[in-house]
Amino acid sequence: MSFTLAIVGRPNVGKSTLFNRLVGQRLALVDNQPGVTRDLREGAARLGDLRFTVIDTAGLENVTDDSLQGRMRRLTERAVDMADICLFMIDARTGLTATDQVFADILRKRSAHVILAANKAEGAAADAGVLEAYSLGLGEPIRMSAEHGEGLNDLYAQLMPLA
Ligand code: GDP
Ligand code: MG
Repeated sequence: MSFTLAIVGRPNVGKSTLFNRLVGQRLALVDNQPGVTRDLREGAARLGDLRFTVIDTAGLENVTDDSLQGRMRRLTERAVDMADICLFMIDARTGLTATDQVFADILRKRSAHVILAANKAEGAAADAGVLEAYSLGLGEPIRMSAEHGEGLNDLYAQLMPLA
């Protein structure tokens, strides 16, 4: 059975880096799909023997602080509703922020399955941020480096029982 995974989280945590790694060259043409705007990118993902659809939430990078929260909330809620599983990404180097807590609240209320990933976790500079992620109460964070391809085995292990 196939499933849809939405990658959500505040700008700059590394969502698109993971999306690109999962999709490779198999980026879906989303322009012709009704209901999918350029703010949501959809691709055909492969991870080990798993095949699934992955959604990247974008379009928030150039938004000013004033309007970020509302747009972010609406876009994230749409992605969550399209998905079977949400991967909530935080930046382990920065540690948890107030904006991360906004996302955590949305996911707690709205998503059946949440996988937590503490990204940019290559090296010891991320240790404190990974530990902080436990306090979200969304389960054990995957220690991930989307850029270096680390943590994908753990992602596989968390996705497999839900697939
Ligand atoms: P998005 O806004 O959440 O989609 O984040 P991007 O994927 O565009 O990444 C934002 C920045 O973080 C880019 O400069 C990436 O190269 C960098 N980045 C992404 N993943 C990692 C990682 O695992 N480690 C480090 N150190 N940087 C990363
Ligand atoms: Mg992005």
